[in-house]
Amino acid sequence: MLIKTNLDEVKKRETALFFINEHIQKNGRRDLYDLTGLSGAYLLKKEDFEVLETYVGPAVFEKMLDEYGKTHLGGEKILGFNRTSAGILATILALVKKDSTVVHYLPELPSHPSIPRSTRLVGGHYLEFDNLKDFILPENTSLVVITGSTMDHKVISEEEFKQIIKKAHSHPGGKIPVLVDDASGARLRTIVFNQPSAMDLGADLVVTSTDKLMDGPRGGLMAGKSSLIDEIKSKAHQFGLEAQAPLVAGMVRALEQFDPENILNSLDKKKKLKKLLNQEFEGFNETPTGVMILPRDIALELEKRNIDTLLSPDDLSFLWAMILLKEYGVITIPAVGMPGASPTLRLDMASFDGKKLELNEIKNILKGSFKKLEIIAPHIDKSKDILFKK
Ligand SMILES: *Cc1c(COP(=O)(O)O)cnc(C)c1O
Repeated sequence: MLIKTNLDEVKKRETALFFINEHIQKNGRRDLYDLTGLSGAYLLKKEDFEVLETYVGPAVFEKMLDEYGKTHLGGEKILGFNRTSAGILATILALVKKDSTVVHYLPELPSHPSIPRSTRLVGGHYLEFDNLKDFILPENTSLVVITGSTMDHKVISEEEFKQIIKKAHSHPGGKIPVLVDDASGARLRTIVFNQPSAMDLGADLVVTSTDKLMDGPRGGLMAGKSSLIDEIKSKAHQFGLEAQAPLVAGMVRALEQFDPENILNSLDKKKKLKKLLNQEFEGFNETPTGVMILPRDIALELEKRNIDTLLSPDDLSFLWAMILLKEYGVITIPAVGMPGASPTLRLDMASFDGKKLELNEIKNILKGSFKKLEIIAPHIDKSKDILFKK
């Protein structure tokens, strides 16, 4: 395995940023295609720039965030974070005592690393389940986390969602607060799967990412009961986790201009794309708003073509993603993701840049880049050169 540790992932990410910078220096932004589904967009208005300062900014934008945030998520009060991970950390800092247990339910493993990591940080115990029949709530449970939609966009069923909330709220030792990690789920579950919002399903807190399936900056938007939000806000300020004014302004404008139609339009496109890709590859599957191929299926595609490689399936996904970026300017998560992000190669058709590429172009890019992968993957040194440029 070439990418084993967090540090390897950090280095791999630095290489990806190096290639992005190289494309920008050569041709500007226009030849880059960000298909991660994480837009990072800043739709600020001209007048916003005059009020972004430390104390003026929050006075203007936090009030707006409260209004738009409640429309988007429901709940009594809104809080903005630097990232969804920061919102999860602040919640755990506020609600989880040493030696108590955090129980996490998600539609499919693996979990987002921020939940077990934050729990470990406060000295808590961590349990995770992806099926109801094994699910238990130990007596000392201090927080239940439900993931509405995983990093790979696997979505929980409404029935499971309700069952977990019911179990947490009717726990013999007393009502346990429920935080929903709805990073992408706040839009996927509601718009594509027609489920109610997390708050309407009875959650106490929900956090979503403002750059997932909407044209906003990377940030965490939390809604919930006022009393809980106040406690979490206090922790957020103590540890510097809260969103600063420019970020809050970006979140406000993204929420203001959010249009569910964009997500609905991508549904038809991804079906067509999957058909096209199946002419070349067997391993591509549909996601709710795009297509994806798992690392093990990338390895199988190489095997089918009689290509021998010592690289692990995850390494192959990282390498293919890096070739896509270096040679074609296509940005995907395995190349640029933070440590612990999913290694699945995903192309999101709801993304802003997804609209710039014809489906046939995408197919040709994948075909061409896979040919390069076939040539490079048998050689460890060549693979390393691409993954760890510096
Ligand atoms: C993206 C994501 C997160 C973390 O979002 P960041 O902005 O990277 O902190 C957490 N949980 C799930 C399920 C996610 O998809």
